[in-house]
Parts: sequence; C-alpha cells; structure tokens
Amino acid sequence: MTRLALTVPMPWLAEAQASVERAIRSDHLGHALLVHAAAGVGGDWLAFWIAARVFCSAPADQPRPCGACIDCRRVMAGEHPDCSLVAPEETSKEIKIDQVRELCQDLRLTSHGGRLKVALVMPADRMNRFAANALLKTLEEPTPGTLLVLVAAQPSRLPATIRSRCQSLPVRAPSLEESLSWLAGQAAPGVDWRAVLAVLGLRPLDALGVDPARIAALQRETAEALVQALRGGLDPVHTADRWSREDLGLRLAAIENWITDRVREWAGRGGGSTEMRADPYLPESHVTLNIRALFEALDGVREARRLEDTPVNKALLLERLLWRLTAAGGNRARTQAREQGNR
Ligand SMILES: [Zn+2]
Repeated sequence: MTRLALTVPMPWLAEAQASVERAIRSDHLGHALLVHAAAGVGGDWLAFWIAARVFCSAPADQPRPCGACIDCRRVMAGEHPDCSLVAPEETSKEIKIDQVRELCQDLRLTSHGGRLKVALVMPADRMNRFAANALLKTLEEPTPGTLLVLVAAQPSRLPATIRSRCQSLPVRAPSLEESLSWLAGQAAPGVDWRAVLAVLGLRPLDALGVDPARIAALQRETAEALVQALRGGLDPVHTADRWSREDLGLRLAAIENWITDRVREWAGRGGGSTEMRADPYLPESHVTLNIRALFEALDGVREARRLEDTPVNKALLLERLLWRLTAAGGNRARTQAREQGNR
C-alpha cells in the first residue's frame, strides 16, 4: 500500500503532531490516544506518523520520524514487528471481536525491539459492540509498554467508557484555501482541485487518490440528470437503480452540491418567495422550482449520505430523492396556466 511520505507537511495536522512530540519528550504519552479527524484529512496518516515517531531510529539530533530509516519504512509498509494494525477486513465494514482479541493478545507479548508496542485501530468507530467491549478490557488494564492509537471520524459512536480512557487528539479541519494550496503542491499542475473538492468535500487526501476527469464527468452527468428530473423527463426508478450500483458516495455528494447551489441562488435573490424561475438551467421551459420541495430534496440527500454505510436499500433512497426533485420542478402546468391567465 502506498502512503504519503512521513515528511509531507500538512498544516492542519501540525498542532496534533506538536502535541504528540511534547508528550513524548516529557514522557507523558498516555497508553491510549484517540485521534479525532474527519474523513479524508489524514487521521490514518497521523496514526502511522505517531507509530513512526515512536520507532524511528534516526539520530536524536535529527527530526523524527525521518521517513527514511528501516523502522519508519517498515511502519509505513505495515511490516513493523512491533506495530500492528486493525481495520475492517475487506468484505466487512466492521471491526470484529476476533480481530480485537488477537490484537490484545499480541500486545501482551514482549516487543521485538525491547521498546514500546504500538497498535493502530482505524476506523475505531467501525468496531462493533463486541469488539469495543473486548478493547475496553485492555484499556482498563493496559499492558505496560504499549500504545493504542484509535482513529475515528465520529468518536461519539464509540462507547463513552472507551473515550474516557483515551487521551484525545483532535485534528482540525483544513480550510478550502489550505486544501487547495496543499493539493497544488502535491500533484502535477493543471488540475481543477476546486471542482474535485466541490464533490468530495474538504478531503484533500482523498482528492489525491481520485481521477479529477472522472469526478468532473460525474458532476456533469448528475447535473444534466437532475435538470431532466425537474422537467419531469427522468425515469427515477431506472436512474436510481443505476446510480446505486456505482460511486454512490460521490453521486450523493454531487447531488447535494447541485441542490445547495440552487438554494444559494434562491437565497441570493433575497429568498422569501416560495418559487423560483428555473430559466438558467431550463431555458424556455416555464418550469419554476418549488423551494419547499427543493429543501425537502436537500434533507433527503443528507439523510441518504448519513445512511450510506448502513444496509438500507440504496436504490430506494435515491428513487425517493429523485421523486422529490421531480416534485420540485413539477409546476409546469400550473405555471403555464398562470402565464396564460396574465395575458
Ligand atoms: Zn526514521
């Protein structure tokens, strides 16, 4: 697995890194850390950075982690004998009890290097109830010389008993400008990162891993389809079925962006009215957007994004959403009747 080099600076992580550095230097590093970082901003990377900071064998007068010594390279490759990683197995979305039990047993063994043993659990908020209970036992009676690093985007999903036993390490969210300038420094020039982040959200590390052209195409196709929905010319059942099979997360983000833009335009015109002419996207269509229905669609897409990782029927969620949008633009007959009445 390729990971960003340990020496790549990310300004929004600097504070968390400095706090780990201070704790290590003053010998105040707890036995469990909880990295609280939104998805795609580098929480996982920070966990590896912490492990590498612990194991790095660069001379003491050099910055650690150096990213170049054998220990740093092993940590980043996931091959360090004293650093274990627990993550959902490929076919599963959950971290299961057997994985945590194995980890806890492993932590009780003496380290190979005679120093600390480090265990990374990511995303920790994907531990199921049983796994979390198993981990709690280890947190209650920690083995000396061990460091647990949990990474969670939503720590509130973890039992309070786990959270209270961890030293909290919050990571602030990067700003849009920060993300853009960081991305510009990481990749070849000529990419419209603003457009990529508009779909992905403020997830600079995720942005590096996607094909910007594919994102742009998805954004365009989504916008065209939603305009068709407003016109009443889209088959919600067929479209929802197709969209639910591929790139669902990106699709939902693109839909949310599109609706949010329409709501902004409405607010930009002073809001107030309950309808808005849709001429800019539906020339000569005489369609007006029903603002209430538009807000309902916005609620719908946000709900769908919340439920994205649950077993709920995705096609049905999308279908309901597309029907709401069809309703938002479904005033053609009424509008035409009114316009005729005005003549
Ligand atoms: Zn090193």
